[in-house]
Amino acid sequence: MVELDTETLRRYDSEYLWHPFTQMSEWEGVENIIITRGEGSYIIDTDGNRYLDGVGAIWTNVHGHCRAEINEAVKQQVDRLEHSTLLGLSNDRAALLAKRLIDIAPPGLAKVFYSDNGSTAVEIGVKMAFQYQQQTGNKQKTKFIRFDNAYHGDTVGSMSVGGIAIYHEVYAPLLFPTIKAPSPYCYRCTLSPEGDCNSCGLLCLKELERLMEQHAHELAGLVIEPSVQGAGGMIVQPPGFVKGVRELCDRFNVLMIADEVAVGFGRTGAMFACGKEGVTPDIMALSKGISAGYLPLAATLTTKKIYDAFWGDYAELKTFFHGHTFTGNPIACAAALASLDLFEKDRLLESLQPKIDYLNRRLQGLLDLPHVGDVRQEGMIGGIELVVEKDTRKPYHWEERVGVRVCLEARKRGLFLRPLGNIIVIFPPLSISLGELALLMDGIEASITAVT
Ligand code: PLP
Repeated sequence: MVELDTETLRRYDSEYLWHPFTQMSEWEGVENIIITRGEGSYIIDTDGNRYLDGVGAIWTNVHGHCRAEINEAVKQQVDRLEHSTLLGLSNDRAALLAKRLIDIAPPGLAKVFYSDNGSTAVEIGVKMAFQYQQQTGNKQKTKFIRFDNAYHGDTVGSMSVGGIAIYHEVYAPLLFPTIKAPSPYCYRCTLSPEGDCNSCGLLCLKELERLMEQHAHELAGLVIEPSVQGAGGMIVQPPGFVKGVRELCDRFNVLMIADEVAVGFGRTGAMFACGKEGVTPDIMALSKGISAGYLPLAATLTTKKIYDAFWGDYAELKTFFHGHTFTGNPIACAAALASLDLFEKDRLLESLQPKIDYLNRRLQGLLDLPHVGDVRQEGMIGGIELVVEKDTRKPYHWEERVGVRVCLEARKRGLFLRPLGNIIVIFPPLSISLGELALLMDGIEASITAVT
């Protein structure tokens, strides 16, 4: 392998690379960090500097970086078969992984459709729901409900069911029309006069019921990030919300598409967030943690009822006409299988509770800081909302870039963080040790204090 010095790599990066979600005028020419290695909870740059990975390789990492068992599984698979196709063939890893996903999925999910990123996994769910309604005598059911502050990815279909204006507004003419429902954002609730989700009796659910009643005749499905809206700001839903959504979907014959791209695979403390409320969605989108952050892989799971609606003679043209070149890639599936083995071997889910409790204590402690307005947590996900004034909950103006400044400060302390506007995100590898979590929280506290 050619090893290049940091300066040359920075130059190549600056001259040739266009980074995602990045204003490149702010990037070019800056001494950016170039990562070359990973080790457990740390990423390591060209100069050997180590950074505690507070965002777990953009919310994907489960067992730490370069975990020996997954490395080995990937290496072995590369020597056996790098890729083939699921068009007219199968492969052993894809078939085995499909069975293992169904074994751990909420009961009732029965079939696995592969793809290779989260946006596509959601978009596949939307297409499936649409076609299902078309093929079961509900031709008028063509619309979808999406939530405020939702993020489901950046393809045209997944943007259409998203709800974050700053990302998607410019593309509005490209997007298909949807019905927008309020999402529960208890700290900034616009529905409850007291702004107190504990006493409002889930007004957001009542509003959803009203919308569903009004639009039931034309609704094909609803897309939800169960438990936590991630990119919207790590917004945690109150207990009972996901279950309430399921009940409304049942009542109005609307398919529930659960986007577990970020929250799946143990992140909320349970294998899947829907499982926490005993909910089985009609369609569930998975990616990120599926391969423990190793390789691009995604899956859209669905029920036998939906699968059966696509069953028939070819001439009936009920086929799901969708597929990607790298669908069911065996190396990615091998990584995913090794990851599932590690969940069992490490008793990972069982091991999370002390870390979840610790995170909770530290987050609550941050509320003493003058500019921490709200802290939110679900399992191993944390969000810290910074405000100008706590009494009025006045947000920092986005141009102040307070989140970015805190994360840059944290970098000086050996942490890598990535904010969402004024919200500091905590999303470390699930395997992080208690000691490392303490370092992460110490660094975040010190960085917030230094900047605000
Ligand atoms: N859905 C959710 C909930 C996400 O958080 C993301 C990405 O952050 C996506 C979908 C899109 O996934 P990808 O970036 O792999 O397309």
